[in-house]
Amino acid sequence: SYRKGGYHAVRVADHFAGGRYIAQRKLGWGQFSTVWLAYDTTTSSYVALKIQKSAAEFVQAAIHEIDVLLSIADGDPSNSKFVVQLIDHFKHTGPNGQHQCMVLEFLGDSLLRLIRYNRYKGLPLNKVREICKYVLIGLDYLHSELGIIHTDLKPENILLLSTIDHSKDPFRSGGSPILERPEGNTNGGITSLIEKRLRRRARTAVAKISGRTASIEGREAAKSSRNINGVDMRCKIVDFGNACWADKQFAEEIQTRQYRAPEVILKSGYSFSVDMWSFASIVFELATGDMLFTPKGGQGFSEDEDHLALMMELLGKMPRKIATSGAMSKDYFDRHGDLKRIRRLKYLPLDKLLIDKYKFSANDAREFSAFLLPLFDFAPEKRPTARQCLQHPWLNCKESTPNEMRNESTVEKVNVGMSNLKIKVGK
Ligand code: ATP
Ligand code: MG
Ligand code: MG
Repeated sequence: SYRKGGYHAVRVADHFAGGRYIAQRKLGWGQFSTVWLAYDTTTSSYVALKIQKSAAEFVQAAIHEIDVLLSIADGDPSNSKFVVQLIDHFKHTGPNGQHQCMVLEFLGDSLLRLIRYNRYKGLPLNKVREICKYVLIGLDYLHSELGIIHTDLKPENILLLSTIDHSKDPFRSGGSPILERPEGNTNGGITSLIEKRLRRRARTAVAKISGRTASIEGREAAKSSRNINGVDMRCKIVDFGNACWADKQFAEEIQTRQYRAPEVILKSGYSFSVDMWSFASIVFELATGDMLFTPKGGQGFSEDEDHLALMMELLGKMPRKIATSGAMSKDYFDRHGDLKRIRRLKYLPLDKLLIDKYKFSANDAREFSAFLLPLFDFAPEKRPTARQCLQHPWLNCKESTPNEMRNESTVEKVNVGMSNLKIKVGK
């Protein structure tokens, strides 16, 4: 990708914008860009420098992203809305072409890294609550003040304001800071193969640790502290490359697969509430360490159909009117509102899943489900808004089972993976 139209190759100490910014180390990368920590000589502070690929479509995308980021910064002069702030933008010409560059406030690790750091065990619920509050303030600002839909909310796109001590992270991907890609990432809506592999590798490792067959290294890592009590859970929403205004939409297929709302799959039209679906999926993942829905295509059914089946197994049957209302409905549902190619569903409600698989106490499971389930309403207009969520009692309750107790029990985690439960019938 480091060729004409692609990424700009950066070396440590390279200068940008006439010498104002000096590259320090690579922070991350995506389908569209590489992101570098840079020193801002004007303000004597560190910033994140996002350097876009140079081909025309990437330039267009960056111009759009800058447009969105400008309106975000405009409406939040005191920088108190928990959405990333654009500091500056400029063009940079290099051997691969002209690159749009965005200077963003420098943030810390993503929630994905936090989940990974915590060895996919699920964060304590009081930490999950804290994260929820910040994300909801950010979403409320985007939705109700700016009319912006993010359309790609996922753990990678929410960054903590602080950093974790990665020297103890067994799943940390190493590599040289130059040209090397230090972090798996997305490709504008679809989780990349690298990221999937990374996640799989990490989870396999977790399984081994909990199955008591961990390598010495694994055991040492398991012993080493994973104390996240000191980590400030403040976080911000980033990556507005796919964002749109509710009244100016571009793409029909939005969102990364696992966080995608049913109306997007069915192509029934969408609005702010798609972000609320993704938000709820992220919250589940934070609390359990597992992605909520990981659909796979199979013989006689597609990934979309598996996804719809998984949703209904957890949330109950989709109302016929909703199931049959989208441009894709005829492909997936019969006129009764039953899936055509996946006939028998095995229902497992959320609170039961939390208790059986994740060892939540009955009380925690009930309260947590009461918070999440309204966000998973198949009727998009019935989902609570971010502002309504902020009022939910779950966000303000204090008592919950200490996480250590839950983590102990994960050693004997029974494997009741939802996807194993249904019977699929080929056409
Ligand atoms: P995508 O393929 O997800 O659209 P992208 O090319 O648009 O990616 P971003 O997602 O904006 O790029 O950034 C890529 C990565 O760089 C992030 O996942 C994160 O690790 C890092 N990053 C981005 N912005 C910042 C920031 N402000 N501070 C610190 N790190 C950042
Ligand atoms: Mg991203
Ligand atoms: Mg992007």
